[in-house]
Amino acid sequence: MITREHILKWLDAYTQAVNAHADELNRLDAALGDGDFGASIQRGLAAVQSKVPSIAEQDIGAILKMVGMTLVSVMGGTSGPLLGTLFIQMGGKTQGVTELSLCDWTEALRAGVDGVMARGKAQIGDKTMLDAFVPAVEALRAAVAQSAPVEIALQRAADAAKFGRDETARLVARKGRASYVGERGVGSIDPGAANAYLFIQAMADVVGDKVGN
Ligand code: ADP
Ligand code: MG
Repeated sequence: MITREHILKWLDAYTQAVNAHADELNRLDAALGDGDFGASIQRGLAAVQSKVPSIAEQDIGAILKMVGMTLVSVMGGTSGPLLGTLFIQMGGKTQGVTELSLCDWTEALRAGVDGVMARGKAQIGDKTMLDAFVPAVEALRAAVAQSAPVEIALQRAADAAKFGRDETARLVARKGRASYVGERGVGSIDPGAANAYLFIQAMADVVGDKVGN
């Protein structure tokens, strides 16, 4: 089971991972866009952390919605509304509950990723965050179908996200600011996909008990 405690620890672990990689995310965005991605997500997650104590006793849906609304209001840029949508849709699937099965988590993430696709109109292969998030959801769905243990399923999702992230280097961007760079962006990893990997890996680390308490 994925508990509310796991969700709170995951938000913390994800925030720490973004803080540790903020400069790298900025550099990746500088190669393809305007160089603000790391600073922007870092600012968004700092605002989230300041609100967590006031909402930590509520259900998982309320916590995830708060995260989404905060990212939308604080981040701006292209990724703010998209990551906000991801969390808000995940919150919609997890309303009123304080525990999630692997299947529930998978469906929540799927709803979030569907929300990003609906809002941003990007597809897999466009060199965006979707190139890491979509394979992660597919890995989770396969693991659910095989009744794989939750820690193993989450690590497979993280491996899929990492692979997808690295594959974005070979792609030509078709969405957002990176599409103006076009062919010249080949060789660079998409920062949104790099962030997606941190998001997915943090969950695997927390549930697999690989981060401190
Ligand atoms: P900008 O500075 O151009 O406003 P950000 O730096 O906030 O954008 O975010 C850039 C990231 O947003 C990209 O790395 C990419 O992963 C993601 N992105 C851009 N457009 C889309 C889209 N239509 N759908 C999904 N993700 C997108
Ligand atoms: Mg940018």
